[in-house]
Amino acid sequence: MIRYFRYMTTKNNNGDTMNEVLNYIEYPENVEKYDTSKPPIRQKKLYKNLVYFLSNVFLSVIRAGYTIEKINMEGLKPPYILLSNHMQIMDFCVSFKAVHPYRISNIATLDGYVGMVGIMENLGSICKRKFTTDLSLVRSCRKVLHEYGDVLCMYPEARYSPIGTLSIIPDAVGKLVKSNKVPLVIMVHHGNYLNAPFWDFRQYRKVPFYATMKQVLTAEEVQQKSADEINEIIRKEMEYDEHRWQKENNIRITESFRAEGLHKVLYQCPHCKTESKMNSQGIHLFCEECGKKWEMTELGEMKALEGETEFSHIPDWFEWERTNVRQQILDGTYKFEDDVHVHSLPGVEFIDLGEGKITHDFENGFVLTGHYNGHDYRIQRNPKDMYSLHVEYAYKKLGKIDCFDVSVKDDSFYCIPTKKDVVTKLGFATEEMFKIITEKRASKV
Ligand SMILES: [Zn+2]
Repeated sequence: MIRYFRYMTTKNNNGDTMNEVLNYIEYPENVEKYDTSKPPIRQKKLYKNLVYFLSNVFLSVIRAGYTIEKINMEGLKPPYILLSNHMQIMDFCVSFKAVHPYRISNIATLDGYVGMVGIMENLGSICKRKFTTDLSLVRSCRKVLHEYGDVLCMYPEARYSPIGTLSIIPDAVGKLVKSNKVPLVIMVHHGNYLNAPFWDFRQYRKVPFYATMKQVLTAEEVQQKSADEINEIIRKEMEYDEHRWQKENNIRITESFRAEGLHKVLYQCPHCKTESKMNSQGIHLFCEECGKKWEMTELGEMKALEGETEFSHIPDWFEWERTNVRQQILDGTYKFEDDVHVHSLPGVEFIDLGEGKITHDFENGFVLTGHYNGHDYRIQRNPKDMYSLHVEYAYKKLGKIDCFDVSVKDDSFYCIPTKKDVVTKLGFATEEMFKIITEKRASKV
C-alpha cells in the first residue's frame, strides 16, 4: 500500500507552481526530523573565536602556503553578502580567516553536519537541503544581514567543483542579492581543488592556495542594477578554471598518485566512446574496454601514450561528456535505471531504508520507489524543478561509496547505485534536462 501524501504548493525558480509531497516515509516515532525553516541564531562569540583559531591551525598545515588578496575591500564592514566558489572543506578556513574579525553565517546543508547539528546552529549557519526550493531561506538570510548585521556567506554552486570549473549559478542568487540591498563580495579560491580534487579528496597534492576577495558591487550599485544584471556580474566574477590556472602559474604536481580517481569524472572513453569502463592508477587513466591509456602530466594535462590525444585540457573532456548526454536526452535515448541502496536524512542522522529502485528520464525525472517500515513509498522530482544534482564520491558517512541525493522539502534520499561510475553522468543529465526545458520556454516567449 502506498501512503496518502500531504501536498504543499510552492513555486520554483521559474515561477512554476509545484506540488511538493510531504511526509513520504512512515518513520518510527523515535526518528527525529529537522526543521530547516528554523531561523538561525547569531553566531556565538566563543564559536567565532574558536573557528578562527582552528582555521589558523588547519591553514598552517598547507604545505605550500596560502595567500588572500583583498580588492576594493578597504573600510567595508558587514552586513554584506559573500559568494564563494567551492572546492573542498578548507575553503571555509580561508573564508573565516579573510572575514575576521567579523562573524560569518554560512548557508549549510544538513549532510555536512550529520551528528553535529548543535555545532551547525551555534556557528549561526542557515540550514537548507540541496537543490530544493525553500522559502524560509530568504527570511533567514534577511535576519543574518539586517537583524544581526553579519556577513552572509553562500557557496552558490552548492557542492564541491567536480572538475575545477564554475558550476551552474541559479538565477535566484541575483534576486537574493538585489532584495537585500547590501554590498556584494566575491571570493574566488584557487589551488584548493588541485590540492584535493573532489574525485580524490583524501590524498593531498602540494599546491599553494590563492584566494581573491573582491567587493564587486556597493550597496548603491546593487540597488541600481536589475537581478539579471547582478547575475551576469556574479557569473563573470566567479568564473574559474583550475586546470588553466595551474598551467598559467606553472604549478607542477609531482605526486605519483595524481591521476587516481580521475575516472570518476572522466567516465567516458573518447576513443571507443564506452561509458563507465574507465579506471585510473598512479599517473595514468585508462579504458578497460579498448585499452587506451593516458598520462596526467605534472601540469595537469592529459597525454595519450599512443595515438591521438583527444583532449589535453581535462575540463574539455568533461564538457564533451556533457554534450553526449545532452544529445541522448534530445534523441530520446537517455534513460537510467538501477537498483539502489537508500539512506534518508530526515533529521540529524541517516536512516537505512534498505533496497530501492530508481529511474531517471526526461519525462518523469527521478522516480525512487521502495518499501520501508511496512509501507511502499514513491519519491519523484521533475526535471523542471531540479537544476542540478548533489553527487558524492567516496562518501565517508555512508561507507566511502559514490552516491547521489534526491532531496525534497523535508527529507533527502541518498542513493547508492549498483552500477559503477554513474553519478557524474546523472549530474549532467539533471542539469541538461533543466537547461533544455528553460531554453524551450525562452524560445516561446
Ligand atoms: Zn575505450
